[in-house]
Amino acid sequence: STGEKYREMSVAEFFAKNKELAGFANPTRALYQTIRELVENSLDATDAKGILPWIHISIRQIEGSEDKGGRPRYRVTVEDNGIGVPVTSMAMAFGKVLFSSKYVIRQTRGMYGLGVKAAILYGQMTAGTPVEVYSATKGSQYVYMMKLVIDVQRNEPRILERGEWNKRGSWHGTRVTLSLEGDWSRAKSKILEYIKRTAVIAPYAEIILETPDGEIYYFPRSTRKLPKPPRESKPHPHGVDIEQLKSMLRNTRASTLREFLVKEFQSIGDKTAQDFLERYGLDPGLKPRELLKKGREGLLRRLVDALMEYPFRAPKSDYLSPIGSDIIEIGLRRMFNPEWVGAVSRSPKAYRGHPFIVEVGIAYGGGIEPRSEPLLLRYANKIPLLYEEREDVSYKVVSSINWRQYNVDFPAPLVVLVHIASTKVPYKGVGKESVSDVPEIEAEIRNAVQEVARRLRLYLSRKAREEEAIRRSVT
Ligand code: ADP
Ligand code: MG
Repeated sequence: STGEKYREMSVAEFFAKNKELAGFANPTRALYQTIRELVENSLDATDAKGILPWIHISIRQIEGSEDKGGRPRYRVTVEDNGIGVPVTSMAMAFGKVLFSSKYVIRQTRGMYGLGVKAAILYGQMTAGTPVEVYSATKGSQYVYMMKLVIDVQRNEPRILERGEWNKRGSWHGTRVTLSLEGDWSRAKSKILEYIKRTAVIAPYAEIILETPDGEIYYFPRSTRKLPKPPRESKPHPHGVDIEQLKSMLRNTRASTLREFLVKEFQSIGDKTAQDFLERYGLDPGLKPRELLKKGREGLLRRLVDALMEYPFRAPKSDYLSPIGSDIIEIGLRRMFNPEWVGAVSRSPKAYRGHPFIVEVGIAYGGGIEPRSEPLLLRYANKIPLLYEEREDVSYKVVSSINWRQYNVDFPAPLVVLVHIASTKVPYKGVGKESVSDVPEIEAEIRNAVQEVARRLRLYLSRKAREEEAIRRSVT
């Protein structure tokens, strides 16, 4: 024998042992990440479902948690007026790592099925307490409650307590409470910044934050205009690989290859399917299951290559949910009270079969403090990104712009907001803090920033001319 000891690890145990991968590297990051994951879930359950969000966040220090030199523990509660979690999925949604309702092709903030469980695991490990969830869906007659912990070895929920109450009134939504070790004094500025930036991009949300210092931050709703909720879409042929194709072939109801293409993919209609099959000499009548048989691997590979190569229509973007230039302008105006603001929502583009839209807002002057470089507000699928700024594609673009060309001389009061909306944001890590520099996305960000910056230049040069004229008339 080699003396090596082999065993398997559950995915819950993996994330329990590698907390930093999910953004829980230390008590400061953990408190920030917990708020973030809970708020993200609340927003996915509201604005993405056509509900004007109401989100109440409360962070309290647990009394006595600092005694005997212990590190402070906090109780965090986030409540929303969202669609709620059906009782049948509640235990799994909060108690099984990699269980999600968002494993579909749709623009959502969550995508890994990990966030809230990473927070619950961290809480379990540092405070030793279960998570408590109350939830009611729109139609249900009951409000359900569960207290549970995650069985780390088995990656299963262990329910400690449950309850149900007759619902009076029409409340629907979710309230999640968990306790964890944290560092409020260090996390405070990041958490406030996170909420503030969320309010910039979601001015249609009402957000209340209660802090351990006894302060209340209130972000009232400043518009009732909601972005159009995202719809679910089918895969685009440019984005599939062999494994994905296999599972699609296994699960399809289509009886021929031709029907399979039309039914299971976006951007393939009858005519396109015909032309595609002819061009690559593929048999339209082939049964999908045939392609899965032994000895057909070559054909399968040929099909994937063909799907990749054929000039299908670009992925559909009506499935995306951009914020819209008007909401971006409302948000920037409210938060910064600038002298000038402009925004653009570009037309959709695609990378590797994934549609995306880049939106950019620029605010200048007024209440903005002059800085030595632009204040960059990064967002992806409406999530503010605060850490890893210098690794982000938006930073790469914005810092490479020659602002002088746009009549902006630093130090200058300049805020640049960049939002990337996609069914698949290419994050660099599961903590979702920075976006990779995919060339197509990078080019779009550049185009968008330049487009708004040109408008700023127009404004600034007109203003300079007017000031010049006034000066002349006075002297
Ligand atoms: P993800 O958000 O990536 O799907 P999470 O672990 O954060 O992963 O959440 C798991 C699932 O729990 C979500 O997909 C969603 O279905 C459900 N969920 C969590 N929080 C809420 C909430 N506040 N309202 C409605 N559903 C929620
Ligand atoms: Mg989530």
